[in-house]
This record gives sequence, C-alpha cells and structure tokens, in this order.
Amino acid sequence: SYRLGPKISDWDQQREQWLRQNPGFPSQIAAGKPKILLVTGSPPNPCDNPIGDHYLLKATKNKIDYCRIHGIEIVHNMAHLDHELAGYWAKLPLLRRLMLSHPEVEWIWWMDSDALFTDMAFEVPMNNYKGYNLVIHGYPDLLFDQHSWIALNTGSFLLRNCQWSLDLLDAWAPMGPKGPVREEAGRILTANLKGRPDFEADDQSALIYLLLSQQVKWGNKVYVENSYYLHGFWTGLVDKYEEMMEKHHPGLGDERWPFVTHFVGCKPCGSYGDYPVERCLSSMERAFSFADNQVLRIYGFAHKSLSSPKIKRIRNQTTTPLEIMEHIHLQDRIISS
Ligand code: UDP
Ligand code: MN
Repeated sequence: SYRLGPKISDWDQQREQWLRQNPGFPSQIAAGKPKILLVTGSPPNPCDNPIGDHYLLKATKNKIDYCRIHGIEIVHNMAHLDHELAGYWAKLPLLRRLMLSHPEVEWIWWMDSDALFTDMAFEVPMNNYKGYNLVIHGYPDLLFDQHSWIALNTGSFLLRNCQWSLDLLDAWAPMGPKGPVREEAGRILTANLKGRPDFEADDQSALIYLLLSQQVKWGNKVYVENSYYLHGFWTGLVDKYEEMMEKHHPGLGDERWPFVTHFVGCKPCGSYGDYPVERCLSSMERAFSFADNQVLRIYGFAHKSLSSPKIKRIRNQTTTPLEIMEHIHLQDRIISS
C-alpha cells in the first residue's frame, strides 16, 4: 500500500544527536519557549477566481504579522510534493518533509490558507502540552461518543517533531491517494462517521477515524483543545466582531475574542464552495481588518470600518515617539495578560 517515504524508526535518536552536534540551532527560543514553525500552503497555480489570490495574500500577510509578533517561523508552500496526495491531503507529505529537514524545530503548526489569526495578542499555552504530540481543536464528546465527522478540525493543529508524529502520518496517509483508493475510503468514512456527506476521503475524517479505531495506540498523546479557538468556525464569529471590540480585548482567544477564524466551506480561490462567494469574501475582509487593527494600532492607525481597506489615524503624531511606544507596549502587556 501507499507510503509517504522510506520507513524511519529512530527519528528521536537521530534528531537528539543532531541537536547535540549543532548547538547553534537550538530547539528553543528566548525564555525557554519551544521553536515553532508555522506552515501554510496554497495551490501552485493562480486561483480560478482572481479575487481569491488577493484574499490568499491577505491571509498570508495576517500569518506573517502574527508570527513576527510571537517569534514563530513561517513557511508558505505552493508545491505539490506528492501528486497522489493533492488538495487537502497535501499537508501530510509536507509536514513529514519539514520535520526531517528542520530537526531544530520542536513543533510544526499547520494552518489552512483560509484560516486567519484574529487575536494577535493570544499565545498558545505550550506549557500545557508537555506530554503531548498532537494538539488539535475539537470536542471529546463529539469524538468519542458521537463519532462526529466535525469532532476535530484539521485546519489548524500542532504536531511535535518526533517519531510518534512520523508514525501518525504513516498511519494517516493510506486513505489519501487520489482516485479509487480515496473514493473507496470515502465510503468507509461516511459509513462510520456521524453527519458525514458522501464524498471522497478527506484528511480530517481520516484522522478522526484513525483516532477512533486505534484509540489505545494514539489517544494518550493527543490533546483535544477547546479552551480557546485554535480553530474557530467563521459563521458564528464574523458578525460579532464589533460587539467583541466594545466589550472585550485581544489576548482572550475564546468566544470573547477568537484566536483563529477559519473559513471552512468557503472556496474563494476555486469554483465550488458551501456558501455564496460574496458572503465568504466580505466575511474574510471583516476578519482581516479585525486582526489588522490590532497590528495597525502599534503604528497609530485603524481601519475606518471592518469592511474597509482604508485606514484612519488614531493618535496624534509626536516628536517623542519612543515615549508613546513605551506606553503602547505597557498597554499591550496589560491586555494580553
Ligand atoms: N492546500 C494546499 N495546496 C493545494 C490545495 C490546498 O496547500 O493545492 C491547503 C490550503 O492551505 C487549504 C487547505 O489545504 O486551506 C485545506 O483546504 P480548504 O481550506 O479548502 O478546506 P476546508 O477547510 O474548507 O475544509
Ligand atoms: Mn480551510
């Protein structure tokens, strides 16, 4: 059957030795935080719908902003490393490749192109994940009791660079190859997962199915996170941003100020989605501006409204800009704690 690559079984030893021999490439950054590499990707060719490329650019700018602020490295992949695993399956060979090429990285964070950071101050609580290798947004009851196909979301998750993760990718990939394999696997997934429409196997359903059918093997290293929106479904969030701005502040990450807003079911780059393209694009614009305001604020600007790319000044200019900077940073520290 299908393989992602030659079987590796001693990655932890290989990586440990490499880290010992290359002290100039530590797996931690300042303050003992683990080194994180955020990975996203988009198709190798232009979007069918040209406006989609504009929104892909906005989503990438948004990720660059978040990563710069938080000391996270970023990769944007546009190549199909493995033609059998095209589309949403493309993240699997990519994650494996990046782990092996970046032994200095402790965690790889996959984030879909259609997911935006909407809380620029929130930081993922890495301390909570010490004994875990996969951190993914979801609900244990939907997963273990209901076997729901939306129990987890594979649009934003963290995977530790270790042997366990290589093994997980190996176990996850066999339903992915395009054609009869993916189609047959889709029928198995639809038969076993609650609420799943009839379509070819997707990476999210396959992961849920794997964790359910081999719970003992994988379960104890999987952290199902829902104390904040590592993934947040857009429809319930985008209409509430103004209300959030009135009542709350960045740094909360949950329904009061969602960490991530993910446009599941929107396909502004391609042709067929579950929602009207216009609704998707105007909602993406709002999510982008909501996040961008948190960045522009540092420079004394804000969007005129969430639906507008135009900006206005929110502070008077000064001849002693560093004093103001001190003040803003202090405020940032207060709002993010
Ligand atoms: N993707 C990619 N290359 C491709 C097609 C998709 O890297 O050729 C990535 C892209 O980041 C996209 C993700 O796969 O966001 C998953 O697809 P999508 O977001 O459309 O699925 P949904 O979240 O709507 O289920
Ligand atoms: Mn997505």
